[in-house]
Amino acid sequence: MKIKSAEFVVSNSEVAKCPKNPIPEYAFIGRSNVGKSSLINMLTDRRSLAKTSGRPGKTQLINHFIINDNWYLVDLPGYGYARVSKTSKKKFQKFITNYFEQRQQLVSAFVLVDIRHKPQPIDLEFMQYLGENGIPFGIIFTKADKLKPKAIDKQVDEYCQELLKTWEELPPYFITSSSKKIGQEEVLNFIEATNEE
Ligand code: GDP
Repeated sequence: MKIKSAEFVVSNSEVAKCPKNPIPEYAFIGRSNVGKSSLINMLTDRRSLAKTSGRPGKTQLINHFIINDNWYLVDLPGYGYARVSKTSKKKFQKFITNYFEQRQQLVSAFVLVDIRHKPQPIDLEFMQYLGENGIPFGIIFTKADKLKPKAIDKQVDEYCQELLKTWEELPPYFITSSSKKIGQEEVLNFIEATNEE
């Protein structure tokens, strides 16, 4: 898929206020600092469509972007930021589960994980939640430029082994680097293919 246009539509603090038109959407989510904003900019060939935030955990909004006038890219807030209180963690969880449980037009989520890290409980739990709720998702490994090819294989293999402890099948996964522009075509082709189904 070629990106012909990519525009910001709206930011929302409530799922109920998100765009009503039934355009297929794809949501990006992951721990704060995983490289989500950089990935969104890389995927859409824009330098600053998604704002790379200096204060992780502060922008708790659902951001809709319209791509090629035919699908929504949704930038969800980063999770797992250590310095928030228990109450705001609970509120945040509700906010996110509301999104996933209410957005009928969601085709797939993408859970971003930093390729350098071992599988983290918070990400695995989140994938478990998506699976239990029948929400399709893919995994996007970020910052692949930080590792050599052999180390990439090792990390991905370890991740897959961990997933296969609880899953019968692996979700689709993508190896990306925003700084080296790796993985753009693969992710966009996946979106194109599932959007046409
Ligand atoms: P977000 O909080 O998940 O939106 O993450 P950002 O996109 O703001 O990135 C967090 C940090 O990781 C920034 O310092 C980025 O420069 C860095 N980063 C993001 N993507 C990459 C990447 O592909 N490669 C490298 N080396 N660094 C990256």
